[in-house]
Amino acid sequence: MSALLVAEGLTKYFPVKTGGFLRRVTRPLKAVDGVDLSIEAGETLGLVGESGCGKSTLGRLLIRLIEPSSGRIVLDGTEITGLNAAAMRVHRRGMQIIFQDPYGALNPRMTVEDIIMEPLLIHGAKPDAESRRKVAEMLGLVGLAARAAMRFPHEFSGGQRQRVGIARALVLKPKLVVCDEPVSALDVSVQAQIVNLLQDLQRELGLTLLFIAHDLSVVKHISDRVAVMYLGRVVEIAEKRAIYAAPLHPYTRALIAAVPVLQPAERGRGKRQRLAGDIPSALDPPAGCRFHTRCPLVMDRCRVEVPGLRSVAAAHSVACHLSIN
Ligand code: SF4
Repeated sequence: MSALLVAEGLTKYFPVKTGGFLRRVTRPLKAVDGVDLSIEAGETLGLVGESGCGKSTLGRLLIRLIEPSSGRIVLDGTEITGLNAAAMRVHRRGMQIIFQDPYGALNPRMTVEDIIMEPLLIHGAKPDAESRRKVAEMLGLVGLAARAAMRFPHEFSGGQRQRVGIARALVLKPKLVVCDEPVSALDVSVQAQIVNLLQDLQRELGLTLLFIAHDLSVVKHISDRVAVMYLGRVVEIAEKRAIYAAPLHPYTRALIAAVPVLQPAERGRGKRQRLAGDIPSALDPPAGCRFHTRCPLVMDRCRVEVPGLRSVAAAHSVACHLSIN
């Protein structure tokens, strides 16, 4: 496999006004703070972390839905950071996003056919028989009946609406799709159906997926590799098997320990552990290792020295002083 997308030193700082009326100051909220990442062509990379860790911001940065504060992004050998809107248009159709909220992401006044056709029209197609044929093809691919085309979003269940969102994202035949928590807003009973659909489409269409979730159990089935993010930084990245069987970073271990055990035979063998404390503010991240305020293995060194993301085995990198000497 070769890399479809490479990000180097990616940061996104949002200016935030803090303090009272007379003491108002603008400080940077470091949502993404120095991420190096590559996504191989045809793979599914899971991106996991608690709410507020910057994973959704990173997903949007990678496809330039929002602009990075610094760093570079290379798509298929072309650096796309810094391209103007006209130059970016060529690359836009190759990178799409599926949003978390299938209720809010679809225009309630448009028919399903118009919703799915809209990206084609934005990219120069006409609302003709060929475009309608492409919409019908997409409806079939995502498991919706052809008659769904003339209906409106409110007539569908959450799972069906997410299928419409997937059809809209795929109608331009993108290479890379960012799936931003695509099942978090859905009933547990339909989450597996949507994950299975995405996995089938990934194989069938040769897609490259970045699958964002806050729960390691959601990405376990679909991912080839998993990256774990904490407070704006990637703290561990490895092949799925290594992440689940031999996690190295204390944060990854805590996330795995927090996954509910569904098999009755396995319940009670180990205690389900909750991670102590809340994720600190990205406005004022802890010095040294950002996880040190919650880490059960913290050492003096962790409070002052930032652990870099280093390779510890083939395709396995971790940012923890305990794993690197
Ligand atoms: Fe814990 Fe220190 Fe490793 Fe950070 S560097 S995860 S504080 S042991």
